[in-house]
Order: sequence, then C-alpha cells, then structure tokens
Amino acid sequence: YESLSVAELAQKLHREPSEIIKKLFMLGVMATINQELDQDAIELICADYGVEVEEEIRIDVTDLEIYFEESEETVEGQTERPPVVTIMGHVDHGKTTLLDSIRNTKVTQGEAGGITQHIGAYQIEEHGKKITFLDTPGHAAFTTMRARGAKVTDLTILVVAADDGVMPQTIEAINHAKAAEVPIIVAVNKMDKPTANPDRVMQELTEHGLVAEDWGGDTIFAPISALKGEGIDHLLEMVLLVAEVGELKANPAIRARGTVIEAQLDRGRGSVATLLVQDGTLHVGDPIVVGNTYGRVRAMINDIGRRVKEAGPSTPVEITGLSDVPQAGDRFVVFEDEKTARQIGESRAGEALQEQRVEKTRVTLDNLFDQM
Ligand code: GDP
Ligand code: MG
Repeated sequence: YESLSVAELAQKLHREPSEIIKKLFMLGVMATINQELDQDAIELICADYGVEVEEEIRIDVTDLEIYFEESEETVEGQTERPPVVTIMGHVDHGKTTLLDSIRNTKVTQGEAGGITQHIGAYQIEEHGKKITFLDTPGHAAFTTMRARGAKVTDLTILVVAADDGVMPQTIEAINHAKAAEVPIIVAVNKMDKPTANPDRVMQELTEHGLVAEDWGGDTIFAPISALKGEGIDHLLEMVLLVAEVGELKANPAIRARGTVIEAQLDRGRGSVATLLVQDGTLHVGDPIVVGNTYGRVRAMINDIGRRVKEAGPSTPVEITGLSDVPQAGDRFVVFEDEKTARQIGESRAGEALQEQRVEKTRVTLDNLFDQM
C-alpha cells in the first residue's frame, strides 16, 4: 500500500486504533488516528502482528495494451472467431483485383438497400463461415500497425503473378509476415495468361522458405485468376483450413477492444473511424477510448453501409462519436462508464502532448547543434 491512515490500518488488521497508536509510540512514532502512515511504518506494525504486507501491483491503466493481455488471459467464455486476412504482394500482381473479386462474388447479396461501403475492411461468408478482409494495402497494415505493436492479421494471402514470378515486394511481404509470425497462403495469380508459369513461382519461393506441400513442404499454393474469378472458392477454403488450425478465439461477452483500421475527419459526421473488433462486442452507446481520444459510440455502420447496433469479434465497423481523429493502428478499449473513458482518454491525450513537446524541444536543440 502506498499509504494508509492509522484508522484504515487498524481496520485491516482487525485491531483497535488505540492499540496501533500504542504500538507506534513504542516504536518511537507519535501518531493520531487520522495520520497517514508511510510504507515503512505499515510494514513495522504488520511485522509486529506477524502479517505480511502484500505489495500492491500498480498498473498503468492508461496503457491500453494491458487490456489486450488481460483478454488473452481470460480463456473462459471464448468461442471461435473469424480469421482476419490481409493480401500482400508485388505491385500489379493482382491484389486489388483479388480483393474486388472476392468482395463482388461473396459479399452477402440480395440484401436490398445494402450499399457497398469502403470502410477499409469487409466480411464475407464461405460455407457458412465468416472471413474478414482488410483492404488497406497489406504492407501498410503490417508496417504502421506493427510499428504500434498492434497485431491484427491472422493470415496473409501472398499474391504472386504466375507470368512475373517473385519480385522485390514479394520478398518484402514474406519478411513482414514472417516477422509477425503470420501464416502465408500463396495465391498464384494470372493463371489465365498463356505465359503463366506456376512451377517457376513455386521454385523461386522455395528459396524464401515457402515450400509447396507437393514438394515436401507445408505451404499452401492456390492457383487463381483474380480477373476471371477462378480458383477463388478453393483459395477461401484454404483460408478457412489454415484458420481452423490456428484455433482463433475471442469472447463476445466482454467489453470490446481492438484496433483502428483507418480514420478521418468527415465534414458532416466529424471524426469517423473504422474499427476492427478483436475481442468482445462493441455496442452503440459504449464509452470508448481510442488511441489518444475518447467518446461514446454514436452510430455504427457495417461494411455494406447498414446501421448496426453491435459488432462482435473480427467484425469491422465504422463509428462516429469520438472527440478527435485517431490514427490507423491505434488501440481501442471500451470502459464501464463514460467518466473512466474520459479520464483515461484525457490522460492519454495529455501524455501524447507532453511527448510531442519533448520531441519538439529535442528537435530544436538538435537544430541548434547542427548550426554550431
Ligand atoms: P495490384 O497492384 O497488386 O493491386 O494489382 P491490380 O489488381 O491492380 O492488377 C494489376 C493488373 O493486372 C490489372 O490490369 C489487372 O486487370 C491485371 N490482373 C489482375 N489479376 C489478373 C488475372 O488473374 N489475370 C489477368 N490476365 N490479369 C490480371
Ligand atoms: Mg492495388
């Protein structure tokens, strides 16, 4: 304990305050009933009664990361959650075409009025199982998010054009995925082209540790044509297979926490942020801290432009109601009441401002030295 009054200590020890005051007197400490005792005095008294002082573990509640660790520890109540997938690969190898192709063919159709929204992520269903795709460029998702310590991707699809083979950004993508310990599925794209040479792709990737199952390795290679929409079903089945092995779990019953996918200031709606719920369920009205800002979830829109009241694990939603614009990769956590959210949010904003000032001062000093 940081400090306790004589009365509080007496209560904890189930003794009369007068007895504590007497003991303190014997130890050479003159104290009144409301006097605050320091750690040493508390320990002396407790030792005298043969009681051990349990050290209070002080946690920094403003560090949002602790809420993620805490939810990893609470295994009870966890259920399966959809995988979150990013698509990576060299420029022009077909990432955007693949994302569009999956979206166009798989986003729940027949939902009249559902307008396709570009909120930076979308969810599809394959064989009754959901899969979430982040449509932020894979590299950005990895670099900015990982730089902030956020892990959002469960699995990455590496797109390699069969007529072009392994290129610099292919290797870069492999390195990012490996560093983040995210499993890779290779989509060998542009199989419709006469110049397609999938064997060459397999051969070249072997040199980077991605060995096909047929060749004695454990990497899944899926031949596709993103343009023609061929091989997509098989690719998605493979995604579900790898996800199943990963045993992805979350607890829909707890307060939501997750990561900002993108955010901007909208003229009419104010701060608009796409959040990926990673654990728990997010509700309209929830008091929330997002990065260095906070608020109450005013409205939520899903990936097909529908207003929703709640969003469970692995679901992307666009929210309004924040006091400021957060950054991609920022963590968010829902709190039990608005007061706590405001306190933590304001304290984080204060700390960030402080850091900025320190940074600025340093820069100015550096400039000064540069000029000397
Ligand atoms: P990104 O830079 O990786 O996002 O690549 P894009 O999706 O923009 O694709 C680059 C070019 O390749 C575009 O002209 C696409 O139409 C074309 N493309 C993508 N996938 C295929 C495919 O499966 N077959 C063929 N023939 N062309 C493709
Ligand atoms: Mg693209």
